[in-house]
Amino acid sequence: SIVTIVLSFGTQKMAKEHAIVRKLQAVEGLGSVSIICSDKTGTLTKGTFDVQACKSAGDISEEELVKLIASVESDSTHPIAKAVVNYAKEQNIERVTVTDTKEYAGFGLEATVGGIPVLVGNCRLLSKFDISFPQELLKMTDTIVVCAVGNRYAGYLLLADALKEDAKVAIDRLKALNIENIQILSGDKQSIVTNFAEKLGISKAYGDLLPEGKVKHLEELRQDEANRIAFVGDGMNDAPVLALSHVGIAMGGLGSDAAIETADVVIQTDQPSKVAEAIKVGKLTRRIIWQNVSLAFGVKLLVLILGAGGIATLWEAVFADVGVALLAIMNAVRIQKMIK
Ligand code: ADP
Ligand code: MG
Repeated sequence: SIVTIVLSFGTQKMAKEHAIVRKLQAVEGLGSVSIICSDKTGTLTKGTFDVQACKSAGDISEEELVKLIASVESDSTHPIAKAVVNYAKEQNIERVTVTDTKEYAGFGLEATVGGIPVLVGNCRLLSKFDISFPQELLKMTDTIVVCAVGNRYAGYLLLADALKEDAKVAIDRLKALNIENIQILSGDKQSIVTNFAEKLGISKAYGDLLPEGKVKHLEELRQDEANRIAFVGDGMNDAPVLALSHVGIAMGGLGSDAAIETADVVIQTDQPSKVAEAIKVGKLTRRIIWQNVSLAFGVKLLVLILGAGGIATLWEAVFADVGVALLAIMNAVRIQKMIK
């Protein structure tokens, strides 16, 4: 029909921008977005953390601490885990055998090493297991991976993540498309999330959110029926919110399979600016659909009126049908031309 042809032209244009649309309706959905919620790690930031420092506590050495944390993290696909495993490799630190690994989304990992229970994750994880740790860890504005061995705090690794090159461009372009309501939802500490948000010119930064917390946040936004929400995530623990948003957008490069399965749109290049490009095409697509429908409706109404008055001939009726379809297709072709 004259609507689906526009949607498929829109899809093609988005594919050229490396935004792969998995459901045709998502093209239209992208054009009506009013709120963007974005994950931080791996979405706006590179998610490839560098290990900056190591601080061990108790009778464990720094090298032993790195060895232990890297060993436990080897079973996780979290960006933090990959960074720590890489770091241990660079330092030629061998890993040890780990059993019973259990991952808690938004917290970290629990495992057994040589019969001893080991925890690797954030401060929240230690609190969950009632393990005390120095309170100054809570005030740090960098990401840390904390470790407990045999139910005692054993130290931490300090990691640094950086904004993606085009993260600022992405936010500026979204604002230029009149999308003012941009929010960061992150499982990371509030102090870190606020810091990144300020750099990007985003005023709404929500940190310390568990995956359920992100779900709750989205449910609250959905209470207002007028809101049209796009969630952008790298996929790590994001599948539920991707499904809950009107348009779920996943970063394809780092993203997990679960996220790509639930997403409506996959950004292949991992560039957040492509989200803005996709929305731009979505808006144009919506406008053209609206024009086509009005045109078809208008012409048919006219021929109907003329026909009733005995003025319209067979040729006008044919034009109302075939001609309008042709014009609608030509109008849809403009999607290819109008951007860039
Ligand atoms: P974000 O919302 O920033 O993408 P996640 O929900 O993926 O973050 O994770 C939230 C927090 O949980 C991380 O910042 C980290 O502190 C902790 N965490 C989760 N998985 C791991 C892991 N495998 N190793 C260490 N920490 C982890
Ligand atoms: Mg994430």
